[in-house]
Order: sequence, then structure tokens, then C-alpha cells
Amino acid sequence: MTATDTPGTDRWNTPERAALRETVRAFAAKEVLPHVERWEDEGELPRDLHRAAARLGLLGLGYPESAGGEGEMLDQLVVSEEAVLAGVPTGVLASLFTHTIALPALVADGREHLMRDYVRPALAGELVCSLGITEPDAGSDVAHLRTRAVRDGDEWVLNGAKTFITSGYRADFVTVAARTSDTGHEGISLFVVERGSPGFTATRKLDKMGWRSSDTAELSLADVRVPADRLVGGVDQGFLQIMHQFAGERIGLSVQACAMARRCVDLSLEWVREREAFGGPLSRRQVLRHRLVEMHRRTEVATAYVRGVAERLQDGEPLIAEVAMAKNTATEAMDYVVDNAVQLHGGTGFMRGTEVERHYRDARVFSIGGGTYEIMNEVIAKFLPLR
Ligand SMILES: Cc1cc2nc3c(=O)[nH]c(=O)nc-3n(C[C@H](O)[C@H](O)[C@H](O)COP(=O)(O)OP(=O)(O)OC[C@H]3O[C@@H](n4cnc5c(N)ncnc54)[C@H](O)[C@@H]3O)c2cc1C
Repeated sequence: MTATDTPGTDRWNTPERAALRETVRAFAAKEVLPHVERWEDEGELPRDLHRAAARLGLLGLGYPESAGGEGEMLDQLVVSEEAVLAGVPTGVLASLFTHTIALPALVADGREHLMRDYVRPALAGELVCSLGITEPDAGSDVAHLRTRAVRDGDEWVLNGAKTFITSGYRADFVTVAARTSDTGHEGISLFVVERGSPGFTATRKLDKMGWRSSDTAELSLADVRVPADRLVGGVDQGFLQIMHQFAGERIGLSVQACAMARRCVDLSLEWVREREAFGGPLSRRQVLRHRLVEMHRRTEVATAYVRGVAERLQDGEPLIAEVAMAKNTATEAMDYVVDNAVQLHGGTGFMRGTEVERHYRDARVFSIGGGTYEIMNEVIAKFLPLR
């Protein structure tokens, strides 16, 4: 992004990124924090929030200028990190930034009609988009998805079902993975399916433990006709496209997990300084001080590793195992921290409306979405000399 953005400097706090963090804090204070409880109850974000984020340039970070973006991936990670540190729920980020998983394949394809009709409007906050891969019978096992696309003249006809689709209830278009031939992971392609296409319906808004301000949908495709030019990339290239963009999604989740841990350490420090029991603040109790040290240590170590991997990705290294290790390291640290943050808050930590209670529920999805903890370990195992 800048001359100071070179190895050996603190790339997460260059003057420009410090200014970006200020922008994010102001955005959080004005546009998000006053409304969070309502959105958590309503189960979705207002469309105006996307436009407000776009006006500040927060949606286009990490996208090429030709797509209406600017900056690089680290800028986008800085935005999510700072938002979480400012108290923005990760569910808000999941839904506000769903374009970060829905658009990469379209941008890589690069054809002007995809840029004009979908990418630029999404980065301008005018369209909401989703990525539809997971199905009722195919989650971790992406290669076994069953939604089928059959060519018919100038169109493809799609039939199938998707589930757990972030922003899927509000989405104006969904990047849908469908089977175009029978050969396992090689037979998958991506299509842009527009809201309102006959046969395409969001059948259910799912009720969730956490990420409550993010709408999550079940989608049904019944003889949905998609023009041939909305096939993204090439026929049967979908699996490769999905695997390629996993690195970005996983490092993004890792950064958010570390930031959530940091936020919970900070909230807990504040709490133990203020809360009195047995004649003094909780912070005087050595057992609790050690607990906080442990929370802090795990957060710092995970953050250092995750940031290092993110920087190497930014520099173009094709990391796979390291990204999986970053995700598991970050989620492990966060899980420890959020659990202990609730414990340190006592009964208050168990109450709705207490911030650490929300983080405790939101944290649970991080070792499920974007590839589970176990699947990350499977990825890492491929790089070990086990045979
Ligand atoms: C809130 C939320 C939002 C989501 N958003 C999206 C989205 O926008 N788009 C989208 O396409 N998907 C989305 N997902 C789906 C998510 O990617 C899947 O839930 C995830 O990949 C796991 O798939 P599954 O739920 O089918 O679990 P399964 O694959 O059925 O796994 C169940 C359990 O078995 C374990 N397991 C599976 N296979 C193995 C193995 N080989 N070895 C060891 N253990 C294994 C898993 O780790 C897990 O613990 C979302 C999910 C959630 C909860």
C-alpha cells in the first residue's frame, strides 16, 4: 500500500493503516455499535450499512481498481481486526463482508459483464452477495456436492439445494457451485444466480447460536435457468477456484479470531480491575492474574503467527498448511480466551447483553466455518511425511 509497507516494518500499523483504523473506529461507533442489539434480534443487517461502508472505501479494499477497489489484502484484514477490537460483532463482519468469499472467482474471471453487473455494484454496497457451496449432504466433503447444472442451448439449468449460506436470505446474487460432470472434485463449476430467477428461492432463514446479526439461509434451485455467460471461470474449474480462495477466507477468520481474543482479554482486564470481592479488586487474586496472563500469552502468540502467515500470503507465497495452522492456532487461542472471559465475569458473563457472552457464542463457529478444525488438520497432515 505504501513505501513503508515493506518487510521489516510493522505492516499492520503504517501511518496509512493507523488512519484506516481510525476510520473503522469512527464507522463502528456511528454506524454499528448503537444498532447491534436490534440487528442481533432481527437476524440481519440493513442494506444501508453496506452503502455506508462502501462510501468509506471499506468494501473495496484488497480488490483491483478495475473492479472498483483499492489497497491490498492486508488493508482488508486491518479493517476486520480493528472492527472487532472496537466491539463490532464478528456476525456483522460475516454478513457485511460476504463479498470477500462471493466475489474472488468473478474477479479472477475478469470478464467485463461480470465486473459491471456484479462485482462493482457489490463493492459499491448496492448489491448483497453470497457464496453457495455447502449442501445438506455435502459440507466438508465439497467434492460430493449434488446440485447439478445441465447445459441447454445458451443456458444452464440448475437443480439442487444449498444450506448455511451467509447473507443468503438477502443476497441479490449467489455464486453457486454446481456439478457439471460426474467426476468427483473435477466436475464442479461456479455460476452466478440472481435473486428473482424463476425456481430460485431462499426457503428458510436459519436460527443460530451466534453470528445472530448475519442472515444464514437455505436455498432451493428448481430448474433455474442461468445464461451461459454467467458460468464463472471454465467448465469443471469450480473446485480449483474454491480451493484457491480458501486461503483468503481462512486467514480472514484467523485474524478475526485473534482480534476477538484480544478484545476479550481487554474486557476482562477492565472487569477484574473494577470488580470487588473479599475486600479488594479481583485483579489482586494471583490465580486470576495468572489466568489473564495465560489468556494474554495465547492471544499474543496466535496473533504473531497469524500475522506472519498473512504477510507471507500478501507477498505472494502460495501457503496452504500454514494457513490451516494459523486458523487452528487462532481458534484454539480464542476458544480458551472467550471461555475464561465469561468465567472471570461470573454471573454477569452469562447474561445476554454482556459483550463477552456474545463473543462466547460467536466464537463457536470459527472452528466450523471456512473448513473445520478437523479438516484443517487433514490439510496439514498432507504436508507431513506420514508415509
Ligand atoms: C454460520 C455459518 C455460516 C456459513 N456460511 C457458509 C457460506 O456462506 N457458504 C457456504 O457454502 N457454506 C457456509 N457454511 C458451511 C460451512 O462451510 C460448513 O458448515 C463446514 O464446511 C462443515 O460442513 P458441515 O456443516 O456439513 O459438517 P460435516 O462436513 O458434516 O462435518 C461434521 C463433523 O465431522 C467432521 N469431519 C468431517 N469430515 C471429516 C474427516 N474427513 N476427518 C475428520 N473429521 C471430519 C467435521 O470436522 C465436523 O466436526 C456456513 C456454516 C455456518 C455454521
